Amino acid sequence: MSEKPLLEVSGLRIAFMRDGREYVPVRNVSFAVPVHGRVAVVGESGCGKSLTSLALTGLPPTDRAHVSGEIKFASALPGSEGSQNVRVSYVFQLPTETLNPVMRIGDQIREAFPPYRAKTRRREQDEKIVSLLERVGLPSRAARAYPCELSGGQQQRAVLAMALAAEPELLIADEPTTALDVTTQQQVLDLVEELAAETGMAVLLITHNLGLVAGRMDIVNVMYAGEIVESGNVVDVLSNPRHPYTRGLLAAVPALDDPRDAPLHDIPGTVPTPDAWPSGCAFRPRCVEAKAICATEDYPCRFCSC
Ligand code: SF4
Repeated sequence: MSEKPLLEVSGLRIAFMRDGREYVPVRNVSFAVPVHGRVAVVGESGCGKSLTSLALTGLPPTDRAHVSGEIKFASALPGSEGSQNVRVSYVFQLPTETLNPVMRIGDQIREAFPPYRAKTRRREQDEKIVSLLERVGLPSRAARAYPCELSGGQQQRAVLAMALAAEPELLIADEPTTALDVTTQQQVLDLVEELAAETGMAVLLITHNLGLVAGRMDIVNVMYAGEIVESGNVVDVLSNPRHPYTRGLLAAVPALDDPRDAPLHDIPGTVPTPDAWPSGCAFRPRCVEAKAICATEDYPCRFCSC
């Protein structure tokens, strides 16, 4: 892998003003995606994952968001090494909200072509559309279909075909399987993995399921209450989780050999909203290892080497 990362995020902070008060749902977030790298950001809903990924592409959900910190892209394509013009494709959670309901799938894929391909003859473009559809496991006739004629899994495959059509260096996939059944989830994630290996594109996967990361990603960043609380090589983090939140997420992943009547493990409580974060460690009210010092700014997990 190249020395210079494709994407480098340093000290990202996203703040909103409401009723004269500032809320900071993303705080001091730093991570990198290497060229060809496979990186995951994991955490429960409400931890700031999607907000972080939206900020990478300049899409914070309102124009009132104040985004600070550094987001640096550096292309590794021959002839454009170091350029900040990196082609990024984004796969959102819900394909029904991504696809235009009144446009045929083929035309939506055509819209995603990079400029050089958009200038080619229509026949060549049609051939490329069919090859992209076939690559994501859809029949060529899907090019003439409207989104409502496809199942949820087929729609997400069509979105992946659009993402590939742009020939991205980086694919950001934000909970791409949320709306799908378990079998289709696996198929779509397997497809993302295969396409990354085939095309060399890097992948940034946003997910709440730590179980999906094993074997698919190289680096994992665990996020809680707007901060990255642990990060590292996936094998290291999964085999030796240091932060109590990571341990809780891992314990919540059921194993195939668990007894059928074994109770499901969960982390008590829910992620607090940014206006209700506790003093000291934000995970404190839910942490089974909390001590008095965790309510202060010297809370121990802040200074561990995660
Ligand atoms: S700082 Fe304390 S409350 Fe927070 S995760 Fe560590 S042990 Fe738990």
